[in-house]
Amino acid sequence: MSRIVEIAKRDFNGLLIEQGFTCDCGKHHGTPLKEVIIKAGALEQAAEVVKKYGASKVFLIADKNTYAAAGERVASLLDQAGIPKTVFIFDDDYVQPTDTSLDKVLAGFDASCDLVLGVGSGTINDISKLAAKETGVRYISVATAPSMDGFVSDTSSMVMQGVKVSVPSTVPLAVIADLDVLAAAPRKLLQAGFGDIMAKYVSTCEWRISHLVTDEYYCEEIASLMRLAVHNCVSHVEDLAKGDHEAVRLLMESLILAGIAMSFAGTTRPASGVEHYFSHLWDMRHLEFDTPKSLHGLQTGIGTILSLDIYDQIKKIVPDEAHARQYAQAFDLESWYEVIRSYLGKSGERLVELDKKERKYDKEAHAERLSRIINNWDQILRIIEEEMPCAEELRKSYEIIGCPVSPVAIGISYCGTRRAFLLTKDIRFKYNASMLLWDLGKLEEVAQSLWQEAR
Ligand SMILES: [Zn+2]
Ligand SMILES: [Zn+2]
Repeated sequence: MSRIVEIAKRDFNGLLIEQGFTCDCGKHHGTPLKEVIIKAGALEQAAEVVKKYGASKVFLIADKNTYAAAGERVASLLDQAGIPKTVFIFDDDYVQPTDTSLDKVLAGFDASCDLVLGVGSGTINDISKLAAKETGVRYISVATAPSMDGFVSDTSSMVMQGVKVSVPSTVPLAVIADLDVLAAAPRKLLQAGFGDIMAKYVSTCEWRISHLVTDEYYCEEIASLMRLAVHNCVSHVEDLAKGDHEAVRLLMESLILAGIAMSFAGTTRPASGVEHYFSHLWDMRHLEFDTPKSLHGLQTGIGTILSLDIYDQIKKIVPDEAHARQYAQAFDLESWYEVIRSYLGKSGERLVELDKKERKYDKEAHAERLSRIINNWDQILRIIEEEMPCAEELRKSYEIIGCPVSPVAIGISYCGTRRAFLLTKDIRFKYNASMLLWDLGKLEEVAQSLWQEAR
């Protein structure tokens, strides 16, 4: 049994020791995160926590909803404790994780503040972490919903100049998560958090496959943390559906755990695979063409169900080296770049530029990966078997908690989904199901066979 997982099971805060962990994977794992307070009434400790980390003036960031849910209370607690503050509340009804939103915060930043207090989950947290980084001050997060796993990761998931990117940002010193606030959050946000955790089935599977095929760094200890996160949520899905405090606590812990895993690995790999790229593409299309989109976690949850179908098809493949070589040889990169540009508009151009640097379609790189795939095919099948869940059971969990399973439920057709799937390998080079299928010369064929009968 993994050492780090044992600590995580015993005492969650035990993972946050200052000296970190020297690991068998060769890396030293640590995070600047110092403490996580998840309990009923945690909000009341906000001023005390701010004081503990030596802030002399607080810059509080919230939107209208999160200010009402927790920000107002935190502001009054700061007043009572005599801690000066400047409050920034977005006036938008729906705050987008974009450079424009970040610029608004930076323009309103009070330079006499030495700590950013982000009150909110999702976008507010991403923007606040980034604002702390840009202004060079420390960061504390007050969670208002268990809706996504970005609370403590060292990147913010943003759309910069139209492209979905992970931007380096400041890890919070502390996260304050009041179960009374989290359990009262809209049910959709809790479902989203659950969906973002289910994605870890796919990310762990693809991380292992990538390690085999591309020699990407992999850590079994970190992967085990993700398996624990998934287990804790799936095994409490019924209580979670009822908003039970203990189940909400486990979900919140799992989300934080995913963030710690990303910090430990130094990449987003432990927590995101092809299912996240469906979500990123839908977000990018939404910004460019105003197509439908939903919450990050609901989209990645749907992406996870889609990934199960994809891996079911992959399991049926018998690799054919000659066919795969021919396919790669005949692949018309310039025409493919045109498809990317037309599908994503101006952000497509950025992806094309990125690919020109990464050169993942390079014939030699393909030959190298193909030979590894063929030599390790049995092991790849075993990894899929070990990591991917039973589709029927997963769908049942989604039904219990009320998560959508189909893109159609969020306004995206299956035809559009097949198209998006072809591009899930092009956001950046993170080896995943669609790249594996491209390497095998099977991408279009498999994409065409998927979701034809689905409604
Ligand atoms: Zn490790
Ligand atoms: Zn996510």
